[in-house]
Amino acid sequence: MYEVVTVKDNFDLSGRNTFRMKVRCARFVEYDSAEELEELDFGALPRPVLALGGGSNLLFTGDFPGTVLHGRIGGIRVAAETPDGGVLVEAGAGVVFDDLCAWAAARGLWGLENLSLIPGEVGAAAVQNIGAYGVEFGDLAAEVRCLELATRARRTFRVEECAYGYRDSLFKRPEVKGRFIVLSVLLRLGRAADPRLRYGNIRSALGTDAPESPAQVRDAIIEIRRAKLPDPADTGSAGSFFKNPVIPQAQFEAIEALTRAELGEDAAVPHYDAGEGQVKVPAAWMIERLGFKGLRAGNAAVWEKQPLVLVNATGAAAPEEIIALESRIIAAVWEKYGIELRPEVEHI
Ligand SMILES: Cc1cc2nc3c(=O)[nH]c(=O)nc-3n(C[C@H](O)[C@H](O)[C@H](O)COP(=O)(O)OP(=O)(O)OC[C@H]3O[C@@H](n4cnc5c(N)ncnc54)[C@H](O)[C@@H]3O)c2cc1C
Repeated sequence: MYEVVTVKDNFDLSGRNTFRMKVRCARFVEYDSAEELEELDFGALPRPVLALGGGSNLLFTGDFPGTVLHGRIGGIRVAAETPDGGVLVEAGAGVVFDDLCAWAAARGLWGLENLSLIPGEVGAAAVQNIGAYGVEFGDLAAEVRCLELATRARRTFRVEECAYGYRDSLFKRPEVKGRFIVLSVLLRLGRAADPRLRYGNIRSALGTDAPESPAQVRDAIIEIRRAKLPDPADTGSAGSFFKNPVIPQAQFEAIEALTRAELGEDAAVPHYDAGEGQVKVPAAWMIERLGFKGLRAGNAAVWEKQPLVLVNATGAAAPEEIIALESRIIAAVWEKYGIELRPEVEHI
C-alpha cells in the first residue's frame, strides 16, 4: 500500500502557476511515483481533474472547482545505447525540463540544448510539444509513458502515435485530453555534434558556426532568452500568450501591401513559409505594429521586450485583467489584419 504524499483541500495555487494568479482549487493531490498515482481513488476526487506541471502554460481564470494533481516523479537515466552511438534517456514527468537539458549538456549529449530554459516539467513538455529555436520535443521523443486515469492501465505511446505538431499533440485532442497522466518520457539524444543554429541569433550569440559542445549552445540560448523573456521568478507570465497564425499566401500579400502603403515600398513583413501555400506570420509583429508593445492596462501589461508575452506587471493582476488585455489585442488584430489570434496559453 502506497501513501499519497499530499492531499490538501481549498489549496492556494498562487505559487503553482507562473502567472501568479491568486486562485484556489477544491483539492490538491501530490504524488511521488506511478504506484502512488495508481493507488488513488480516482472516483472519489472532486471533478474536474487537472494534471498540473509547473503551471507555466496556464491562465487560471478563477478558483478551480475540482482536483489538481501534481506528480513529482523524478529521475533521469540512460536507458539504452543506440546503434548510431546515441543514447535513449528516460526522464520522470516531474523533472524540471531545464534540469534535463542541463543534465544532457553536462554529459555532452546533443539534442536538448536549444530547448534550454523553457519553464515547466518533462510531463507537460510531452503534452505541449514544447519548441524553441528550431527544435521541438517531438523531434527527440521516442516514447511517452502514461497512466490512463479511469482504467489505471499503463500505456506507452510511440512518438509516431503522439501526433506532434506545432505546440500540439494527441494529448491535447478533445477526446484524449485529461485521460492520460504522463509518467515518464524516453528521448533519443546523440553523442555526435549536431548543432541547430538556423533560428534566431544563435550564431551571433555563440560567436562561431561550429560549437564544440551542447553546453556551449545551451549557454548561448540561455543568454538570448534572458535578454528577451521575463524571468518567472521576477515577473508573472505564461510565456508566449498567442500562437503565431498561419494564413493563406493571398492574405499575406494583402498584409504586405497594407504595410507598404503605410511604411513605404521597402517595408517588409516578417514571415515563414508554412508549406502548402500557407505563411506563418509572427503574432508579435502584428501586436507591436498595433502599438501594444509595453502597454500597461491596470496590473496587466504587454512585455516591453517581447510583445507576444502578456505579464502580471505588478504581481496583483486578477485573471479578468489579463483576459481584458487579451481580448483587446485579439479585437485589434482582427480589425486591422483580418486574423483571429488564438491563445497558446490554456485558460482553465
Ligand atoms: C517565460 C516563459 C517562457 C516560455 N517559453 C516557451 C518556449 O520557448 N517554448 C514553448 O514551447 N513553451 C514556452 N513556455 C510555455 C511553457 O513553459 C511550456 O508550455 C511548458 O511545457 C509548460 O510546462 P508546465 O510543467 O508548466 O505545464 P503546465 O502549465 O502545468 O501544464 C500544461 C499542460 O500540460 C498538462 N500536463 C502537465 N503535466 C502533465 C502530466 N504529467 N501528464 C499529463 N498532462 C500534463 C496540463 O494539464 C496542461 O494541459 C514558456 C513559458 C514561460 C512562463
